[in-house]
Amino acid sequence: MDWEESNESHGHDGCHGHGGQGHGHSHGPGGHNFGGMVHGFMPGPPGQFAQRGEALTDPTQQPKKRSHMDDSSSWDIVKATQFGILDRCKELVEAGYDVRQPDKENVSLLHWAAINNRLELIKFYISKGAAIDQLGGDLNSTPLHWAIRQGHLAMVIQLMRYGADPTQADGEGYRALHLAVLFQHMPIAAYLMAKGQEVDVPDQNEQTSLMLAAQKIIGPEPTNFLLKCNASVNAVDKVNRNSPLHCAVLAGNVDAVHILLEAGASVDLENANGHTPIELAHQVHSPLLIHMLNHIKQERIKSNSTCLKVFTKYRVCLQLLFCVLMTWAVGAIVDMSSESWLLKGVLLACVFAVINLALRQTSGYNVRSQIPSMVLIASIFWMLFTWFMYFIPDGPSATMQVLFTINVTALLYYYFRCGRTDPGVIKATEQEKKKNVVVLAEAGCLDPRIFCTSCMMRKPMRANHCLTCDACVAKQDHHSIWINGCIGARNHHYFVLFLLSLSLLCIWMFYGSLVYYSRNCPLHYSEEGLWAAITGLVGCSPWVLYIFSMAFFHLTWASILFLVQIFQVAYLGLTTAERANLMMRQRKLPQGTSLRQNPYNFGVLRNLVNFFQLRCCGLCKPVVVDWTQQYSLGLGRDSPMFNGSDAV
Ligand SMILES: [Zn+2]
Ligand SMILES: [Zn+2]
Repeated sequence: MDWEESNESHGHDGCHGHGGQGHGHSHGPGGHNFGGMVHGFMPGPPGQFAQRGEALTDPTQQPKKRSHMDDSSSWDIVKATQFGILDRCKELVEAGYDVRQPDKENVSLLHWAAINNRLELIKFYISKGAAIDQLGGDLNSTPLHWAIRQGHLAMVIQLMRYGADPTQADGEGYRALHLAVLFQHMPIAAYLMAKGQEVDVPDQNEQTSLMLAAQKIIGPEPTNFLLKCNASVNAVDKVNRNSPLHCAVLAGNVDAVHILLEAGASVDLENANGHTPIELAHQVHSPLLIHMLNHIKQERIKSNSTCLKVFTKYRVCLQLLFCVLMTWAVGAIVDMSSESWLLKGVLLACVFAVINLALRQTSGYNVRSQIPSMVLIASIFWMLFTWFMYFIPDGPSATMQVLFTINVTALLYYYFRCGRTDPGVIKATEQEKKKNVVVLAEAGCLDPRIFCTSCMMRKPMRANHCLTCDACVAKQDHHSIWINGCIGARNHHYFVLFLLSLSLLCIWMFYGSLVYYSRNCPLHYSEEGLWAAITGLVGCSPWVLYIFSMAFFHLTWASILFLVQIFQVAYLGLTTAERANLMMRQRKLPQGTSLRQNPYNFGVLRNLVNFFQLRCCGLCKPVVVDWTQQYSLGLGRDSPMFNGSDAV
C-alpha cells in the first residue's frame, strides 16, 4: 500500500543527488525525496526558492573562482546549461548540437535549464525546437516537474507559457499539482490551480493532493491550504477507497486529522477492506487518534439530539443568560445575610463547578472565545441594575442622571455598532482570486507580504490576516476579545469611543458607590480603628462592593487600552499591528528613527480628524480612504520605514 512506502525514511528536498561533480548518477529529482514526513510550510518570497534550490544542487552553484568562468569555453553543453552560460550554449548549438538530444542518462537540456532556473536558456532552447514536455531522468519527468520540485515559480510560469502540460504524470504517477503540494511549494500550487488545474485532480494512483498531503506531510499545511481551495474532504481513491482521513490516520498525522475533522471529514467511511478511520486508528495503536475520532463521533451524535438543536438555535441568547445569572450568583452569594464564610465559600465553589461543567459540555462550540464579551455584557447589565436599584434611591441630581443616561446610551450604541459593523473584511470571488494569483505570480509578486496564502488574495496595504476570524481585514488593528471580533478600518473609531464610554460608566459606578457608602454605611474610623472600619464597609453592602470591584476591573483595562489607542491613533498614526511590527524592526533602522516618521502620520490634529471623520460643521475636511481598496501607498509621503511593498 502506498502509505507503507511513505514510511521509509527519505530525504526532504528534491534534486539532492547531483553528486557534486556536474552530473553524477541521480541528477533528476529523486521521487522519494518528500516521502519522510516533512514539517511546516514556510512561504517565502520568490527569491528564496531560487536560493534554496541552488544551495542543494551542486551544478547550480555559481563557480566560486573566477577562473572557472573563464574556463567555460571548454565546457560541454550540459555543464554550460547547468551554470547558465548562455554564450557557450549558443556557440555549441550553432556548431550543430541538437537541443532535443538527451544526455546519456536521458536528461534533456531543457531539464537542466529548468532545474537550475535558467530562464534565458529555456527561451533559447525552445526557439531552437526543444520539446517542452520531453520525459527524462530516473523518474521520467518533464522539465516542468523538475522546476516544481525545486520550487522555481518563475520557471514554472515560463514553461507553462511555452505550453508545458501540467496534467502530464511523471514516472511515479504525480502530476504538476501533486508535486507542488508534496514539496510544499504553495505559491506554485496556487498558480497551477489558478491556471485551471482542479484541486481534486487524481494522480495515476487515483489519489488527490489532499490525500497525499494528509499522508505524507506532517503539520497543518498544506492540508489546510488545500481545504481552503475547496478540496473534497471525503473523496476516495479508486484502489483502496481510502479518504484523506484514512490516509492521515494511517500516517499518524495528528495535525491533518484534526483539520480534516474540523472540515467535516466522515469518521464512518469504510475503505475497500471495510475499515473506518477509527478502526485504522486502533490498527496503528494511536491512543490520541482513537480519542480524537471517538470524541468527534460522540459530538456529532449529540449534535443530532433535539435538545442540542434548540441550544444551537438560541446559543447566543442562552449563553448570555447563563453569564448574567452566574455573575449575579457570585454577587448574591457574597451578599447573603449569613455570617458563615464557610457556607459562602462552598456555594461559590458550586457556582464555579457549574460554570466549569457548562464549559465542558459546550466545548465544541468555541464558547471560550466568547467568554470575555459575555462577561462584559453581564457586568454592564448588573452595573446598570445597581445604579437604578441602589444608587438612584439616594437621589443623584437630575443633571447627573441625564449625564449618566447619555453615557449608558453611548456605551451601548458604540458597543453594538463596533460588534455589528463589518471591520473591513476583504472579499473576493473565486474568479477574482484566480485572476489575482496569475497576475501576481507572473509579475513576480506572489510574496506573503502582499499575498495572503490563507485567503488566496492580494492584501490591500495595512490589511492583516486574522487567524481567529480566518480572514484578511482592512487596516486591522487587533482582534478584540471584548468584542469577540476584529477591529479594523470600519469599526476602529467605534471601538475607541466604546472604550471611552465604558471607562466613564465605571467612573460613574465609583461615584455611585462612594455616595451610597457615605449615606448608608456610617464609618467610625476614629473610634474603632481602620480594621473595624474596613470590615464595617465590607459588611455594609457586599453587593455594592462586588459591583465596585467589577467596575474597577473594567476601568483598568478599558482606560489603559483607550490611552494606548489614542496614543497610536493621534500621535503615531499607526494601528496596533503596525506599531508592533515596526517596533520589532526598529532595532535594524538607523538610530533616532522615530515611529512617528511614517506615511500615515499627519500630525495629531489631522490624525484625529481623519480617524473620527470629524467635520465640525465644515471646519475640517477629513480624508476619506477606503482601506479595502488601497493597494499602493499613493499618499505622497516618503519615510525610511515604509518602502513600497515592504511597508507594514
Ligand atoms: Zn488572509
Ligand atoms: Zn479577527
